Amino acid sequence: MANNEDLFKKIISHAKEYGFVFASSEIYDGLSAVYDYGQYGVELKNNIRAYWWKWMVQYNENIVGIDTAIFMHPTIWKASGHVDAFNDPMIDNKDSKKRYRADVLVEDHIAKIEDKIEKEVSKAAQRFGETFDAKLYRETNPRVVEYQNKIDDIKSRFYSKLEEGDLAAVKSLIEELGIVCPVSGSKNWTEVRQFNLMFSTQMGSVSEDANTLYLRPETAQGIFVNFLNVMKSGRMKVPFGIAQTGKAFRNEIVARQFIFRMREFEQMEMQFFVRPGEEMKWYEYWKEMRMKWHLSLGIPAAKYRFHNHDKLAHYANAAADIEFEFPIGFKELEGIHSRTDFDLNAHQQYSGKKLQYFDPETNESYVPYVVETSIGLDRMFLAILSNAFTEETLEDGSVREVLNFPPVLAPIKVAVLPLMKKDGLPEKARQVFDMLKPNFMCQYDEKDAIGRRYRRQDSIGTPYCITIDHETLENDTVTIRYRDTMKQERIAVESINGLLFQKLAANIAE
Ligand code: ATP
Repeated sequence: MANNEDLFKKIISHAKEYGFVFASSEIYDGLSAVYDYGQYGVELKNNIRAYWWKWMVQYNENIVGIDTAIFMHPTIWKASGHVDAFNDPMIDNKDSKKRYRADVLVEDHIAKIEDKIEKEVSKAAQRFGETFDAKLYRETNPRVVEYQNKIDDIKSRFYSKLEEGDLAAVKSLIEELGIVCPVSGSKNWTEVRQFNLMFSTQMGSVSEDANTLYLRPETAQGIFVNFLNVMKSGRMKVPFGIAQTGKAFRNEIVARQFIFRMREFEQMEMQFFVRPGEEMKWYEYWKEMRMKWHLSLGIPAAKYRFHNHDKLAHYANAAADIEFEFPIGFKELEGIHSRTDFDLNAHQQYSGKKLQYFDPETNESYVPYVVETSIGLDRMFLAILSNAFTEETLEDGSVREVLNFPPVLAPIKVAVLPLMKKDGLPEKARQVFDMLKPNFMCQYDEKDAIGRRYRRQDSIGTPYCITIDHETLENDTVTIRYRDTMKQERIAVESINGLLFQKLAANIAE
């Protein structure tokens, strides 16, 4: 599934219909690339954040969490390089009036050539059967080699021109490659311009330049400027990490992919401070650990891949993305960056405060190196939602829409349903509901036929439904119905809590 627009549209409309994600300010026709989370969306989002926090902070003795303000001293963004370098090159198509990121246009063009290579390779694999050596074929087949040379040539020319700030050459390259606007199909492009992605606002009542603040475009800087505070007050010893989750703001040029690219979004970041020279070891470690975190949710490994960066940001000496196969194709979900001592050094310079660690083992003071893991909460939400969305054709021919969330992330864990609205069943169901609600996010529902109620729970991804029937009144047993298999089992009321704890701890849906 490379680019499944219809599926993506279905997921977006499901998210709206079932109270997961709404367009912001919808009754005023919305606000571009800004979204609100509804009653189930907020639960899913909270659960993803809590799952991340648990793995990063609770499980690691040497990682602590903080929560820093969105507003920060404006010099911070000078020091971090964001004022001068947090730009994207933008270009408009004069016919469609659509705006694009020049780098994305070129990367999409490269992806098309890569697709051609993959097609050649898979055709050859079929032709040669078991004896096929894909690596050798890639290195020697003239057509594949030609494609690969083309890609290397485009990359090296494009990134060097971009780095030199030669925007006219970037435009020429786009023209030379024959890149057309996906909407108008024309090559009628404007000049390429740099566009700073930070939002600014004024603090206090006087609007002078000195009072201009930026809404933070990443949460990382809040961690760097608190490095000393946390190290001292927490008696932290290198290697140690500081984690935080929170809102970030970017005035994205192209923002038309639902919650994949938003102008206001949330990040979950961890900065890990290490001894200089040991950063590559830790970089590899965190790449592995973060992939483990993703796989621990039970999502197929084939949906994930690493993408190592050729072009590094000004602060990094190694960087990789964890990409996820969204319905819009494989895209960045998380970044793991070896940020060197760039940030702490810069803040040391701009603030005039020493940001160093005294290492008792080596008897030296140094500015630690940093390995960062940075994931967008909203992007993770989209990954989970799009992976979960399933349309199943049942034996009777009807279609069941179900969200197969990992149980640990499901917004509602258990629904309590009296089979009928009479004979004392609702009262008994209320008792069961009251017994479960201190432990789990529960829902009580007595409206409509039981089959419809099950379907409603499937649509919001509830992994377990408890049904109270006449037998419950006789022997205090209920049926538990599992979302994924739709199997039902009879269990004692007194065992429900224990069974749910067990299944949720193991993240088992059945
Ligand atoms: P992209 O190349 O997609 O613009 P980036 O490389 O600028 O992303 P980082 O600065 O590394 O992203 O940010 C870390 C993470 O924050 C990303 O992996 C992504 O999950 C998330 N993120 C970044 N920008 C956005 C956005 N506009 N909307 C939602 N999530 C975002």
